[in-house]
Amino acid sequence: MMGGYPPGAARLDQGLQYLKGVGPARAQALQRLGLVTIAQLLEHYPRHHDDRTVLRPLSELQLGCRQTFSGCVVSVNELMPRPGMHLVKVGISDGTGLVVGIWWNQPYIKRAFTRGAQVVMTGRVENRFGELQVDSPEFEFPDRAASLSTGRLVPIYPLGAGLTQPMFRKIAHAALQGYGQAVPEGLPATVRDRLGLIEAGQALRDMHFPPNLDALERARRRLAFEELFVLQVALSQFRRMHRVMRPGISHGPNGEAVCKVLAGLPFQLTGAQQRVTGEIWADMAGPLPMNRLVQGDVGSGKTVVAALAMAKAVDSARQAALMAPTELLAEQHYANLRSYLEPAGIRVALLTGSTGRRRRRELAKQLAGNGLEVVVGTHALIQEPVGFSRLSLAVTDEQHRFGVRQRLALQQKGPCPDVLVMTATPIPRTLALTIYGDLDISSIDELPPGRRPVKTFWRTQDRRMLVYRFLREQVEAGGQAYVVCPLVSESPKLEDLAATELARELSGGPLRGLQVGLLHGRLPSKTKNATMQAFREGQLQVLVCTTVIEVGVDVPNANVLVVEGADRFGLSQLHQLRGRVGRGRQQSYCILLAEPRTEPARQRMDVMVGVSDGFRLAEEDLRLRGPGEFFGIRQHGVPEFKVADLSRDLGMAELARAEAAGLLAADPMLARPEHAALHAAVLSRFGEKFGLMFSG
Ligand code: ADP
Ligand code: MG
Repeated sequence: MMGGYPPGAARLDQGLQYLKGVGPARAQALQRLGLVTIAQLLEHYPRHHDDRTVLRPLSELQLGCRQTFSGCVVSVNELMPRPGMHLVKVGISDGTGLVVGIWWNQPYIKRAFTRGAQVVMTGRVENRFGELQVDSPEFEFPDRAASLSTGRLVPIYPLGAGLTQPMFRKIAHAALQGYGQAVPEGLPATVRDRLGLIEAGQALRDMHFPPNLDALERARRRLAFEELFVLQVALSQFRRMHRVMRPGISHGPNGEAVCKVLAGLPFQLTGAQQRVTGEIWADMAGPLPMNRLVQGDVGSGKTVVAALAMAKAVDSARQAALMAPTELLAEQHYANLRSYLEPAGIRVALLTGSTGRRRRRELAKQLAGNGLEVVVGTHALIQEPVGFSRLSLAVTDEQHRFGVRQRLALQQKGPCPDVLVMTATPIPRTLALTIYGDLDISSIDELPPGRRPVKTFWRTQDRRMLVYRFLREQVEAGGQAYVVCPLVSESPKLEDLAATELARELSGGPLRGLQVGLLHGRLPSKTKNATMQAFREGQLQVLVCTTVIEVGVDVPNANVLVVEGADRFGLSQLHQLRGRVGRGRQQSYCILLAEPRTEPARQRMDVMVGVSDGFRLAEEDLRLRGPGEFFGIRQHGVPEFKVADLSRDLGMAELARAEAAGLLAADPMLARPEHAALHAAVLSRFGEKFGLMFSG
């Protein structure tokens, strides 16, 4: 919200030493929290608020629960019940009763208390030895004058060493008093009025020191909206500038390549595939650079859509590149794209980390010359000094695994290629707009005909042998199966070991006599490819694997998927895994082996059994886990918010998008004086991203 200011408000950029009560030592402690300027301090919001509007008299405290109370220090004692054991006991009284705070082996605590001081304590009250005792209570000495710590909703901040709650409260309060007026109003009055949102200064004050819970909620709403609004404005501008500043390539009409690819398809495109292909072609033909996300449920047939876009590039005598997150996936795309494109005379090559040096040099030469139209690869594509002579279409698959930076790196391999991003994690539209707001979105919301929905079951461990007997029957009837080993920990290494172990156990036990293969991330890629090939060709009947098969792997004859320890996975991940089967005409089965210990884990299993639609599942996942976990910690592309929470503020995100669109339609460059603060906020939060976009 703050950061870039209209000239009058520049004081908010001042360092914290200008605040009363902040000396060099505290300034340093604050800096460790990332707080350097007054604006940053004001935006360091409380973790929560303690309701201390009414403190119970000590005689009315409830035993066994955590509460806050206050009194006057009446005794400070030090005891050594045994050698090496030290005890501080501080008694406080409010005239109605006596409570004793107890600290073990923290002799220095004693020095904090003087008889007669007023103190506020928080902790669990127990009745022991006929005394009301609290172990290691939090405590603070309320300021006698300004009562920031009692008789109100009291802010509790995330803090580090060298800072205490009362100290920080005072500093925050002083900052609000001195600088609260200077906070720029980033939301135009018209927007605020229409949505009934309070002013910036008010919101900031109430976020820290709300008079009541309603005021706190109003403040939160206002600030959350502003975050989402600024993001939406930035994304729109991002997209706009991208177009205005970089005229794109206008591809010509479809020609021989597109016709031949279409004619050679072994199936009819679904309605959704046709529509989305049309959207892409229209973008490619237009003079502005395409920036489009294609999202489609697993198995919806995204690859062929990419192939048709590539064919259009070739019809304009251009080149296309596709970048995939793993070698396995790149190999598979390579195989599929070749099958679509080569019959039309289009030359396709593969470039990954394991492409030999000589071959690389050869490829680079072909790409720089006239010898190659399409290249498929991993991030080796952008790491290498690979130069294209006429790249006009850059496709990235499974985008959520790449960062913006990598997407841009591929883009910059050509003068201003059209960009197509494919993702197999379908997400609710509003969320997609929030995260990928700089992209146009196409959805392949229809599966190819003749697919039979995968039957999903959840079984507990005591049925494990029955599950494997079922798997064996299916395989003996001509099917193939995946067995996914559980996520054991954060460590892929352990996971790989677990898969190896599981493969050994199964092929020596319940799956004895079947051809069982093993696939995990750390096998040499030669081995991986050979194993995958053998499975694809039916020489292996069962593939024991880690989540390396999660994205994209396509073997239509596989019809059984067993997931061990399924409760360890998130819904979206399970859905991705389930997408590996149900790709052929035979009935497929997904069996989740799980002993969920928590209610949410149990719910996830039920949702998997009951819901097969990827978009609905993603919504459920978001609801059950919240956006942080939903996307995996620290994944690229998910904007970080201080106040907004996408799992509960999705409706608000939609509003913000609509309001941003309206505002920009009227004032595209944010040039009007009443939008100056908003403009500044956008630049301060997203300026770096804009810079990244237009560098190089
Ligand atoms: P995605 O990448 O969207 O999960 P793929 O592109 O891998 O899906 O396609 C999944 C499977 O569906 C492939 O075996 C592909 O040949 C097949 N397929 C794609 N489109 C159609 C269609 N219109 N009709 C029948 N099969 C299709
Ligand atoms: Mg795919």
